[in-house]
Amino acid sequence: SMASPALLMRVVASAYSVAEKAAAIVRNVMSGGDLGIVEKAGPNDLQTKADRLVQMSICASLARKFPKVTIIGEEELPSDDVSEDLIEDGQDEEILKKPCPAEYTGIKEEELVIWVDPLDGTKEYTEGLLDHVTVLIGIAYGGKAIAGVINQPYYNYEAGANAVLGRTIWGVLGMGAFGFQLTEAPAGKHIVVTTRSHSSALVNECITALNPDAVIRVGGAGNKIIQLIEGKASAYVFASPGCKKWDTCAPEAILHAVGGKITDIRGNSFQYNKEVKHMNSAGVLATLRNYDYYASRIPNTVKESLVP
Ligand code: AMP
Ligand code: MG
Ligand code: MG
Repeated sequence: SMASPALLMRVVASAYSVAEKAAAIVRNVMSGGDLGIVEKAGPNDLQTKADRLVQMSICASLARKFPKVTIIGEEELPSDDVSEDLIEDGQDEEILKKPCPAEYTGIKEEELVIWVDPLDGTKEYTEGLLDHVTVLIGIAYGGKAIAGVINQPYYNYEAGANAVLGRTIWGVLGMGAFGFQLTEAPAGKHIVVTTRSHSSALVNECITALNPDAVIRVGGAGNKIIQLIEGKASAYVFASPGCKKWDTCAPEAILHAVGGKITDIRGNSFQYNKEVKHMNSAGVLATLRNYDYYASRIPNTVKESLVP
C-alpha cells in the first residue's frame, strides 16, 4: 500500500479544511448581526466575536489532530473547553495526494510552529469592507515560513448570486501556490499597496519617496499579498510597526512559493520560530517581482526610524 502522506502535507490539508470552516464562521457572525466588538489596544485594534470563535475553531481543531505542534494565535482567550461544533476534522483530499517536497518529508510535529490570524482585516470587517478580510494559517519550520493557507471568506461577494462566495489559497515552498491565477502587475508601472486604517507620517513619507504611479489603500496583510500575486499591485510597503508574525507567516509562504519576496523595510527576513518576538517592528516590504527596485529606494531616514 502507499505510504501515508508526510506530516507537512497532512497539516496543510487539515489547515485548508479548517480555514474553510473558519470562513463559514466569519460569514455566520456577520449575518447574525451582532459582531461583539471589543477594543484591544484602542479603536484601531479591534476584536470581534468572529475573531474569537475562529481562533478557537482553528487552534482546537489543529491541536486535536497534531498535539505536539506549537500553535500561536493572535487573540488572547480564556482556555475554556471549545464547543464541539467549532471542531473541524476534515482534510482536503487533493492536497493529501500531492507529494511533499523532499526537504520536508522528515519533519516531526514538535518541529512545526503554526501562526494563526483568525481574522485579518478586522477593522474593515466591522466597516463592511468584506473582501479585505482573510483567515491566515502559516506553517513554519526551522524559523522559516514554509507553507500557508489564506482563506478569503467574501471573495466574489459583489460578483452576483451566481458567483461562488469565498476561496482558499494555499502554498508550500518548493511546490508552488494554488487556488488563484498568478498574474504579473502591469509592466513598467509602480503600484504600491499599503494600509488603509493604520497610516502614519512615516508610512506616507516612505510611499512618497517611491514616487509610485498609484497607491492602493486596503485593509489586511493577507489581502495585500493577494493584491501582489494577482497583479493588482507591484509592492506592499508598510513603514510602521504594528504587523505581527501571524499577519505575515501564511502570506510569506505563499508569496515565496511563487518566487516573490517579503522582508521588513530594512531588508531583513522574518523569523517564525516559537520564541520570536511577535511584532514586525521594522515594517513590511513585499513584491512578487522587482524587489530590489523598491528596496533600493527606501530612504535611509525611514529605515533608521524603524528598529527591528
Ligand atoms: P493593515 O494593513 O492596516 O490592515 O495592517 C495589517 C495587519 O497589521 C492587520 O492585522 C492589522 O491589525 C495589523 N496592524 C498594523 N498596524 C497596526 C497598529 N498600529 N495597531 C494594531 N494592529 C496593526
Ligand atoms: Mg491581522
Ligand atoms: Mg486578526
